[in-house]
Amino acid sequence: MKDYYKWAKEFAVEYIAPFAEEIDKTGKFPEEIFKKIAEEGFFKILVPKEFGGDGEEVTAHAQVTRAFSEACATVGLCYTMHNVALKFTLTFGREEIKNQVIKDVVENKKFMTLARSEFGTGVHVFNSQLEIKNTDEYSIITGAKSMITSANHASYYLISVPADKEKGPVNWLIPYGAEGLSFKESEWNGLGMRGNNSCPMYMENMKLDNKYAVYIDRKKANQIYPVNIDVIFFMTGLAAVYTGLSRTIYEAAKEHTLSRKYPGDKSLASIETVQLHLSQLFNNVFISESLLEVAAKSLENGEKDAFEKIMSARVTASLNCVDSATLAMRIGGGQAYNNKNSLARLLRDAFAAPVMFPSVDVLRNWIAKVITGQNIL
Ligand SMILES: Cc1cc2nc3c(=O)[nH]c(=O)nc-3n(C[C@H](O)[C@H](O)[C@H](O)COP(=O)(O)OP(=O)(O)OC[C@H]3O[C@@H](n4cnc5c(N)ncnc54)[C@H](O)[C@@H]3O)c2cc1C
Repeated sequence: MKDYYKWAKEFAVEYIAPFAEEIDKTGKFPEEIFKKIAEEGFFKILVPKEFGGDGEEVTAHAQVTRAFSEACATVGLCYTMHNVALKFTLTFGREEIKNQVIKDVVENKKFMTLARSEFGTGVHVFNSQLEIKNTDEYSIITGAKSMITSANHASYYLISVPADKEKGPVNWLIPYGAEGLSFKESEWNGLGMRGNNSCPMYMENMKLDNKYAVYIDRKKANQIYPVNIDVIFFMTGLAAVYTGLSRTIYEAAKEHTLSRKYPGDKSLASIETVQLHLSQLFNNVFISESLLEVAAKSLENGEKDAFEKIMSARVTASLNCVDSATLAMRIGGGQAYNNKNSLARLLRDAFAAPVMFPSVDVLRNWIAKVITGQNIL
């Protein structure tokens, strides 16, 4: 297998990292970076080889996301959402829609995102309250999604809707520009992840051809875990985002301890308490990276307990990231607090980790239920 981490890291050092500060300051979606990501071919890593992609699986998804997130967590998050929506479409979509999406991703360099959260149901994204009226040829959807990454920039929005009475669970793929679809960008004012544009998406009597309905046939798609492949790719993606961010926090904090000198040339790195904090930051990265790699491999091998492993990787990466960000701010002192380096920005990005669906608290519940043989939903 090609070294996806190395490929993405080299790209990220040159084309993403130099703009991380600016993305945070302006709060604007990094459009030019996403054009470059498309040109380089990162959007098609999951597309089967026979359709012009790399035919890769969850490990490559995790590695690219992690490398991008080391440069800028916002970019890593938006990128990972694309892979999740694409994987869902490739797994459950009918041929016609799969071909359309593959053509758009491979030839037209378009990307996708995930729209599941709603104002009412929050992290409980399986309980969509959207209204949907079906006819034989088209359907009409009305309602709102609350926080949609890459809003106004992605070309497809994968939305959850209530289950169909006859055909069961279903998602819809909304093409950008659909009549009745709008976004409220002014509503995004996140503490961190400033450029991800995670704003509300409104659907007002949105009329769509029924070809955009993606019915979830778990048996046909050979879904062996309690949740579908998109949720699994999403958890992996989030684990990768916060693992990448943890590494950057560790490196920025280490750099600060070496460069911060007191009169007499003693550095912060030579102070015992600071050393204890630094070693904790190192541990956090090492644990998160190791868990992510093992869990992704376990998924690729279809191991029985891969689901709980990936949940554990996501929970650990998130909590470690918040812990590292907090400790790094202590090491960074007044200079970090006064935004003289990147640590405060990284802390703000880190605080999205526990609250994103499936949130850390919900996942800890799921892990306990799975290991004791209970249903999670
Ligand atoms: C940066 C960012 C980007 C996002 N991008 C997207 C996106 O692209 N697409 C999308 O669909 N959504 C997105 N979201 C939304 C996200 O995934 C959550 O669904 C959303 O943040 C939930 O917000 P809420 O305030 O309604 O949470 P609430 O549902 O009100 O939850 C608040 C807190 O209570 C906890 N809680 C609630 N119920 C339980 C329970 N049963 N057990 C334990 N704890 C519980 C939650 O864990 C959470 O910490 C994004 C969020 C952020 C921060």
